[in-house]
Amino acid sequence: MVQGDAGGMWPAETHEVFNQPEPLEPFHAWRSDTALREAVAREGGGWAAPQLDAYGAAAGGPLFAAGFLAERNPPQFHPHDRYGRRINLVEYHPAYHELMRAAIEAGLPSLPWTGARAGAHVARAALEYMHNQADSGSGCPLTMTFAAIPALRLQPDVGADWINRATARAYDGANRPWHEKAGITLGMAMTEKQGGTDVRANTTRARPLAGTGPGALYALTGHKWFCSAPMCDGFLVLGQAPGGLSCFLLPRWHPDGGLNGLYVQRLKNKLGNRSNASSEIELREARRG
Ligand SMILES: Cc1cc2nc3c(=O)[nH]c(=O)nc-3n(C[C@H](O)[C@H](O)[C@H](O)COP(=O)(O)OP(=O)(O)OC[C@H]3O[C@@H](n4cnc5c(N)ncnc54)[C@H](O)[C@@H]3O)c2cc1C
Repeated sequence: MVQGDAGGMWPAETHEVFNQPEPLEPFHAWRSDTALREAVAREGGGWAAPQLDAYGAAAGGPLFAAGFLAERNPPQFHPHDRYGRRINLVEYHPAYHELMRAAIEAGLPSLPWTGARAGAHVARAALEYMHNQADSGSGCPLTMTFAAIPALRLQPDVGADWINRATARAYDGANRPWHEKAGITLGMAMTEKQGGTDVRANTTRARPLAGTGPGALYALTGHKWFCSAPMCDGFLVLGQAPGGLSCFLLPRWHPDGGLNGLYVQRLKNKLGNRSNASSEIELREARRG
């Protein structure tokens, strides 16, 4: 209570704030979560406890603060440079990059693929669970990078180099071609306006350029209603090949350093998950090589 001259409340003081919870942060996302710790131990991830303990401190501390910042300062879309050239650039707040770097260096998208040890998926899930308490927006490209690896493994002639870089514990948020980076991220562009759950309704066309079938080169033309992390270095994209719906690896840049035919149309204006740059894109003869 603010005391006035006469010993009572100042006349302008309207009320005293009480019966409110204390702020959650800072908290320890691992030590304070008994259910999580018991579940990880029960499911075979106990060996990762020291690493999870360290990430729990970060997730409830500096990363939690970064999550607020990234959410309050959502990504900005710059379709063109100031001379009018198309650049399809999304600019993130530094807090977003901080979140991505911390998670990638902790192995969040890579742990089960690099350390093939029983319980590695459990440990990774715990990392992700704690990270998402700090910021779920960055959780999107982190999850997509993790989830793209099994698909890339099916086509090692195309995927091996991508897998090595996507599972390296190195984050490089720079806007330059994937083959110049030690660490990369992967997105997914599957959903179309008429085809979300039912991806069979996708209309994006895949035109064969050299041969057909697994590993061959195709050009993609169409739209995607969701491409949530358009600054990823590459994407798994669904398109209708002559033989039916198939999955293609699409780099954001051509090998010669030019931008691929992937045009960001706009960023979605979302209620939540705002640190994540969910975009709508068009593909015009976009291709891997
Ligand atoms: C924040 C955000 C980010 C996203 N990022 C990406 C991204 O990066 N890349 C991408 O490709 N997609 C992305 N998506 C899209 C997401 O994957 C789709 O929303 C999802 O596939 C569902 O499609 P839909 O929205 O068209 O819903 P619909 O398919 O229209 O489904 C609507 C409802 O009907 C139900 N339903 C649908 N079919 C059936 C059925 N056969 N039987 C019973 N119930 C059914 C669904 O469960 C749902 O409740 C994102 C979505 C969000 C919200």
